[in-house]
Amino acid sequence: MEHIKDPVGSRFEWMSTDEIAEFQSERLRESVAQAGKSPYYAAKFAEAGIKPEDIQSREDITKLPFTTKEDLRLSYPTGMLAVDPEQVIRMHTSSGTTGKPTAIFHTRQDIENWAELMARCLAMVGATSKDVFQNMTGYGLFTGGLGLHYGAERLGMWTIPAGAGNTARQIMLMKDFHVTVIHATPSYAMHIAERMLAEGDNPKSLELRIGVLGAEPYTEEMRLKLQDIYGFKVFNSYGLSEMNGPGVAFECTYQNGMHVWEDSYLVEIIDPNTLEPCKPGDVGELVMTTLRRTAQPIIRYRTRDLTRILPGECPCGRKHIRLDRMIGRSDDMLIVRGVNVFPSQIEEVLMKHEWVGGNYVIHLTTVGAMDEMTVKVEISKTSFDGSIETLRKLRDHLQKQIREQVGFSVHVEVLEPGSLPASEGKAKRVVDEREGR
Ligand code: ADP
Ligand code: ZN
Repeated sequence: MEHIKDPVGSRFEWMSTDEIAEFQSERLRESVAQAGKSPYYAAKFAEAGIKPEDIQSREDITKLPFTTKEDLRLSYPTGMLAVDPEQVIRMHTSSGTTGKPTAIFHTRQDIENWAELMARCLAMVGATSKDVFQNMTGYGLFTGGLGLHYGAERLGMWTIPAGAGNTARQIMLMKDFHVTVIHATPSYAMHIAERMLAEGDNPKSLELRIGVLGAEPYTEEMRLKLQDIYGFKVFNSYGLSEMNGPGVAFECTYQNGMHVWEDSYLVEIIDPNTLEPCKPGDVGELVMTTLRRTAQPIIRYRTRDLTRILPGECPCGRKHIRLDRMIGRSDDMLIVRGVNVFPSQIEEVLMKHEWVGGNYVIHLTTVGAMDEMTVKVEISKTSFDGSIETLRKLRDHLQKQIREQVGFSVHVEVLEPGSLPASEGKAKRVVDEREGR
């Protein structure tokens, strides 16, 4: 594959729907040919009887086999490498949230394309070379650090590679260097704000105007809470290491779903049970194919993330399709007393309440033979000034609202700010201590 020069704001960002379709078909052909150079896909395509000429247009994608996280694990370490190892300049791994991490390789061209996509995302939300950018996610094998870093530098931003954690230093850096744009997980951004408030400091006194928040699911209610606390705009950023990392899908200034860069990724939404395509607009599992990666093309990757393609056009004029906020991973779904529950449903109820702080944990236990759910949530230091009596009312109110949302009774415990473990990266929202798990 030849190198695609794609400076920010180039024709790729503003392609028409027809151009996207044509480009995707062309890139899919090349991606499949490139993937076939890896031992893994060579065997997989042979087994499925697929010849390169079977793939002519993007509609032919359904002829190709899916790739799962398990396939990546089985081909670990280098079974999916499609180039001479000499051409590899970097590797990353996933965070390993759900098991052994998977390794992903990049050539120089891959890294440049990724940086360009990332710069495109940042420019889309209004960041410029005049901004000072603090990157608060982990550097190293995790993709959030270097991924954002290269994009921010590409855009010419003053980039501070702060990494994750060390909250006091994060706050100091933001103040001393007049930081205007940050990247963090939403749970860590919330933790920093609450820490400042607890110390009598006001997050609004910072000069932040843009928060790029992602790497974990969060609700619209959480966004509103964060925007309110900081007085900045929050943009949702979705990515996964298998598809590079951040820079896959990103909100524009309209904050109405995340544009997927379709020159680089082919998107499908499938029913995870039947593996058939969902009806347009229906929620299902997101499946993605890399269209521009050379070191390790991945075909029809089952992300396990649940979302839908939003209908209609975005007022910004970009034609790249938009994904709805992720509901969560299919494996985030809890089955409690036979009822399917996503942590995001609980978060939605909690974050609507102004007295509730940003940190919560869902605790599952077995009592007798029954599942028991206890939602532990911190109150907000600034907005709650009530008595024990109001605290009790708040608890009862939340219990009732959550019961209405999920359909069974839950216990709510309202706690003092700072009583739950704080997250510096991906928050752990569920502790499942039920018997037999
Ligand atoms: P791991 O799968 O081990 O967590 P990654 O670090 O590659 O490894 O994380 C990618 C995953 O993080 C995605 O598949 C998704 O579940 C989650 N994620 C990333 N960004 C978002 C987002 N904006 N909203 C919801 N979930 C997200
Ligand atoms: Zn838009």
